[in-house]
Amino acid sequence: MAITSTTRITGLFGDPVSHSLSPLMHNRAFGACGLDWVYVAFHVLPAHLAAAVRALPALNLAGVNVTIPHKEAVIPYLDSLSHTAAMIGAVNTIRVEADGSLTGHNTDAPGFAAALDRQGVSLDGQRLLLLGAGGAARAVAFQAAIDGAEEICLCDQVGERAAALASDLAGHFASCRVHCIPLERAALEPAAAAATVLVNATPVGMAGHGDYPIDLAWLHPGLFVYDLVYNPASTPLIAAARARAIRCDNGLTMLALQGATSFALWTGAAPPGESMIATLEELMRNR
Ligand code: NAP
Repeated sequence: MAITSTTRITGLFGDPVSHSLSPLMHNRAFGACGLDWVYVAFHVLPAHLAAAVRALPALNLAGVNVTIPHKEAVIPYLDSLSHTAAMIGAVNTIRVEADGSLTGHNTDAPGFAAALDRQGVSLDGQRLLLLGAGGAARAVAFQAAIDGAEEICLCDQVGERAAALASDLAGHFASCRVHCIPLERAALEPAAAAATVLVNATPVGMAGHGDYPIDLAWLHPGLFVYDLVYNPASTPLIAAARARAIRCDNGLTMLALQGATSFALWTGAAPPGESMIATLEELMRNR
């Protein structure tokens, strides 16, 4: 890849960013599509976020991804939000428009739907048990409601974020039944039994993040299990599902396909989603 005087620049704003797989994934995708584009990781401290965002049109960048801890903090510095980003209250992609204005998008949400679609699973009519109520869970829950999920059961450790998410969902989607359930066996076991899709949007499964709020023995053949955690590739949740031939996938596909959606927003070109997944699989194998 040769960087020239006409190369279009995209990238990532986050703190930290040195662990990110996105530069390798996007740069390989730009190369595969023959695009004279580059993706750079920018370590942007919270105190510099406003100046960094203001510099996007000034430096003629095409846009950037935004990650922890800026996904919500960036919103006041943008000119407009997509409908989905506004509902979720978080932005992970900024596009610089032709007039220099900045639009915020959330591609985690369609990335989640695309990851399930790739497994032949539609969210329409599903009953979700969603573990966690942080930023990622908000994207999952709103996408599920947008795509016609029948029911969403939410839980988190403290309960306050789950209650706020339930209230936000109810304000937008009258036809989707939303419940907050306590982290107690008496509530979780019947919710797992009734669910058709189980999503882990907590960090549990990564080293040092404690135990799942559910008993993995509750997994049943009527479930599709999606674990947003992708490091390790086989979390205890994924391993338990596989051991019982229950359909499942990990969050690597969501990570790749949210990137593919950002790629399309910036370039207007069809993103090479499958090769972006293959790049991430290769990078994870070689870590
Ligand atoms: P976050 O904002 O910190 O939220 C984490 C949520 O998990 C909170 O609701 C927290 O509850 C809950 N939680 C933590 N431990 C729990 C436990 N033992 N039992 C029940 N709930 C628990 O994090 P996030 O940004 O949403 O990310 C969540 C996970 O998804 C992370 O592992 C992240 O790496 C992954 N992720 C993956 C992708 C992808 O593309 N694959 C994208 C985004 C995030 P409290 O708030 O009550 O503590």
